[in-house]
Amino acid sequence: MRVKAFLLAGALASAGPIAAQDTETRQLTDHQQMVHDIYRDIIGFRTARGHQQVDDMVAYLTKRLSDAGFAQEDLMVTDYDSDGEPTQGLIVRYRGDGSSGDKPIVMLAHMDVVDALPEDWDRDPFTLTEEDGYFFGRGTMDNKYGVANLVGTFIRLKDEGWTPNRDLYLAFSGDEETGMVSTRAQAKWIAENVDPAFVLNSDAGGTALDDEFKPLAMRVQAAEKTFATFELTVSNPGGHSSRPRSDNAIYELSAALLKLADHKFAVQATPLTRSYFAALGQSVPGELGDAMRAFAENPEDPAAVATLQSNPETVGTLGTTCVATMLRAGHAENALPQSATATVNCRIFPGIGVEKTQAELARVIGNDNVSFKLMAEVTESPVSVLRDDVRAAVAKSLAARYGKDIPIIPYMESGGTDGMHYRTLGYDTVAVSGGASRSQDMYAHGLNERANVDAFYSGLDHWTIILKELAGG
Ligand SMILES: [Zn+2]
Repeated sequence: MRVKAFLLAGALASAGPIAAQDTETRQLTDHQQMVHDIYRDIIGFRTARGHQQVDDMVAYLTKRLSDAGFAQEDLMVTDYDSDGEPTQGLIVRYRGDGSSGDKPIVMLAHMDVVDALPEDWDRDPFTLTEEDGYFFGRGTMDNKYGVANLVGTFIRLKDEGWTPNRDLYLAFSGDEETGMVSTRAQAKWIAENVDPAFVLNSDAGGTALDDEFKPLAMRVQAAEKTFATFELTVSNPGGHSSRPRSDNAIYELSAALLKLADHKFAVQATPLTRSYFAALGQSVPGELGDAMRAFAENPEDPAAVATLQSNPETVGTLGTTCVATMLRAGHAENALPQSATATVNCRIFPGIGVEKTQAELARVIGNDNVSFKLMAEVTESPVSVLRDDVRAAVAKSLAARYGKDIPIIPYMESGGTDGMHYRTLGYDTVAVSGGASRSQDMYAHGLNERANVDAFYSGLDHWTIILKELAGG
């Protein structure tokens, strides 16, 4: 998960003390206890790259599912080589009776985590700790939250003797945070063998809470920008620093980067981004909210564009961005540089493409001595539709869990979840996590990652309600 700041929650934050969370011992149902235990146990596996415990986690999950009555043939474990690191993927099939005639639904989560160094954390990152209304530990949000709730929901529904009217699948990847080798392979397998109606991702979206833990809106990730990194290099014969030449790799690269610094890509607007700003603009106060509503009305409004482009929270929604992130040059203090290289990271607006973006950068720089190298395989993905049936199922879950309707706001993410690999194969994929957090509680990938305890247990109902709505209650 790439964390996008919950601007909405921050903007709406009401003044006043932070409400203390209910820390009394709660009465857990058997299924809540079961999903808690799964969560606790899988947080204990250090599934970060370099520690090779994804296979242990897969063995644990398949045992739980098998004990709950899932047949071995419906628990598909595959080994992958993720750029030299062994990992595994797990696909689980919940057989339906086929009575609806509808294509299957696939749900996504990832089992790997970004590593965490125990010495840097206040509590052991690989031991689930409940404190002050939060669960602490690496993966409590990203994305063992999703794994535990999806597996828990499958087991709960199986226990209830429920048979869906279409097949349901879980696809859990093992290297989402790094190479996404397992994700790509699973997406291909799903396309060839399952051909689902659509895909639901547990790894993004979710409810934004205000400072006092009240739900503000449900965010649904419906698109991701394309992540592409270029290295820009200037080479030069070099020489002795006592005899400078008129051309110099460092000066040339610097001049190129200054041109990039001044460049703004064309403003883009899609129905998704316009409706996103229209919805958000209702609740964001001041000049920023005004600009959001004005942009939703007219994406060519220059004042609105200027305001949204100058705000780091909103600039990414307006179009492609490219920014220099690393630099290396020269080899000795007394030698002219033989090369200078800058890393430029781009987040490309859906539908624009890497080639056009590179061509635009080259045109802006206007110097053929600057060579471009695309650093990794790029996945471009289109915008997904939030289908009416999915929207209705999510709305039902929200109404049941919060006792009222809250707005559902589709948004575009800066890029980086498993979902893009399914979108690129033509499957509408939306991320609808059951999680809920305040803007100040986003710690995914960082220190002291945590999840709201209430939101954790409510995730089980979230997925249960959604699946029953979409696959026969
Ligand atoms: Zn994630």
